[in-house]
Amino acid sequence: MSDVIIEVTNVHKIYRMGKTEVHALRGVSVSIRRGEFVAIMGPSGSGKSTFMNIVGCLDTPTRGSYKLDGIEVAKLNDNQLAEIRNRKIGFVFQTFNLLARTTALENVELPMLYSNARNRRQMAIRALEIVGLGERLHHKPNELSGGQQQRVAIARALVNDPPILFGDEPTGNLDSRTSEEIMAIFQRLHREGKTVVLVTHEPDIAEHAERIIRFRDGKVVADEPVLNRRIAEVELERLGGPLEEEDTELLSETT
Ligand code: ADP
Repeated sequence: MSDVIIEVTNVHKIYRMGKTEVHALRGVSVSIRRGEFVAIMGPSGSGKSTFMNIVGCLDTPTRGSYKLDGIEVAKLNDNQLAEIRNRKIGFVFQTFNLLARTTALENVELPMLYSNARNRRQMAIRALEIVGLGERLHHKPNELSGGQQQRVAIARALVNDPPILFGDEPTGNLDSRTSEEIMAIFQRLHREGKTVVLVTHEPDIAEHAERIIRFRDGKVVADEPVLNRRIAEVELERLGGPLEEEDTELLSETT
């Protein structure tokens, strides 16, 4: 296995709207090693979402190369993109994106809907225990706080045990104390081996990462390690342990 999990080389993205063209990415090259924790920053319109959509396999570049875990993604069709996304990536969004009339447990089971995992329910329970919601399995989103809803979304992102977690402003709708809880969970998942990439506007959130990449006008203008990294100081003992080997075996039997 190569050390580099995300390798973006000279990527351009041009959106065409009628006769006008928007050059959203202008020759971006970034490589991220397995197990890194990276924050993406930059003013509105600088290309952060476009970059995340490409590295998250939601969209493909107009030009350039993107290798995800050694696989050239730039030329895949939509089905192939969906397949690699399911295996490699878990997403967490600013607005949680949970189904409203559906319990926490059912929301977390959703990504496994099309797999024949024998143990879907058990896997979903384990993922909710990891984020400390083992006692809220049957609550619907409107019966949970914002922070708890985001933890359900993290459990959903984790349930297929992908190597990479992407967050698009995952603390954008949360107060600072709840944001700290969410960052504590990301830091813990990172310590346990996940590659974590978060887009954020907030410098104090970005400082929980190990490295900050800054975009401006569709280009990377800075890429630096975080010198005084923040460690989220939140009581985490109610969280469940990491996914254990036997859980992962259950998953791999079914893929
Ligand atoms: P950021 O996430 O940093 O705010 P974006 O990647 O969303 O930046 O946008 C970069 C540029 O690309 C902006 O000028 C934006 O208006 C444009 N853009 C983004 N998505 C689209 C789209 N689907 N169609 C047309 N233009 C777009």
